[in-house]
Amino acid sequence: RVNFEYCDQLVEKFEQVCEKPELHKSSVYYTGVDLGTACVVVAVLDENYEPVAGCYKYADVVRDGMVVDYIGAVQIVREMKQELEEKLDTELIYAAAAIPPGTETVDSGAVENVVRGAGFTLSNLLDEPTAANEVLKIQNGAVVDIGGGTTGISIFKDGKVVYIADEPTGGTHFSLVLSGAYKMPFEEAEVFKRDPDNHKEIFPVLKPVIEKVAAIINEHIEGHQVEEISLVGGTCCLTGIEGTIEKKTGIYTHKPGNPMFVTPLGIALSC
Ligand code: ATP
Repeated sequence: RVNFEYCDQLVEKFEQVCEKPELHKSSVYYTGVDLGTACVVVAVLDENYEPVAGCYKYADVVRDGMVVDYIGAVQIVREMKQELEEKLDTELIYAAAAIPPGTETVDSGAVENVVRGAGFTLSNLLDEPTAANEVLKIQNGAVVDIGGGTTGISIFKDGKVVYIADEPTGGTHFSLVLSGAYKMPFEEAEVFKRDPDNHKEIFPVLKPVIEKVAAIINEHIEGHQVEEISLVGGTCCLTGIEGTIEKKTGIYTHKPGNPMFVTPLGIALSC
């Protein structure tokens, strides 16, 4: 079974430094940029690969893993870079980024160009599941990354990715369902959904979409010997999501304490 101890420590530290950066000097800083459908996250690690600063912004510059507002994306990443540089009183030079699996041919270097356009020297570009596994360190099993726009499924054998897929169902669809059920604007439903105090109430409304995600997972892992599913991505913050996925897939399913920042931290670790 995957042990989330390292992941939990790293994410907890990241959450702390997002609030209050660590100001000690480092000989080098490693930055990870995660351009998501719902959220842009920038994570900064020091020479010992410990989080020292970070920030995240909800933005609408990417859809289903593809950059749809190039100028907006460059601007957001540039602003976040400046904000972190001011906080750390240093220049951030190197950054790594990731793209959803299977989008290499259609991305046309958009993510790479956003990171460069924001003023970074790009030191690595990898796929999201490989980035997440820098933190999770899974040898065998599946990582399911339920983000804002898509669900990414990756299967690992002996620590290497042997199968990847990305399907357009994610947290945005959850918010759309809530918006319809509660007759509230999408933005309001999105904020309502993210509040853990509302999770118990909204769970029955969201159950069919969770089951749809589970059906997608089943489709992709069929034929592979998967004995464990590890959930990452912001949508997996939903309380109890792992139980429904485990029930529908029949496979042991679990998640780290905060699944939201696993991929961006993995991107920074790969820098
Ligand atoms: P993608 O990977 O699809 O491009 P992304 O990288 O923006 O998207 P994440 O940052 O992993 O995705 O997750 C964003 C999603 O997680 C959003 O739909 C957001 O509403 C959802 N989310 C964040 N926090 C919570 C929470 N506490 N409860 C439920 N959902 C949450």
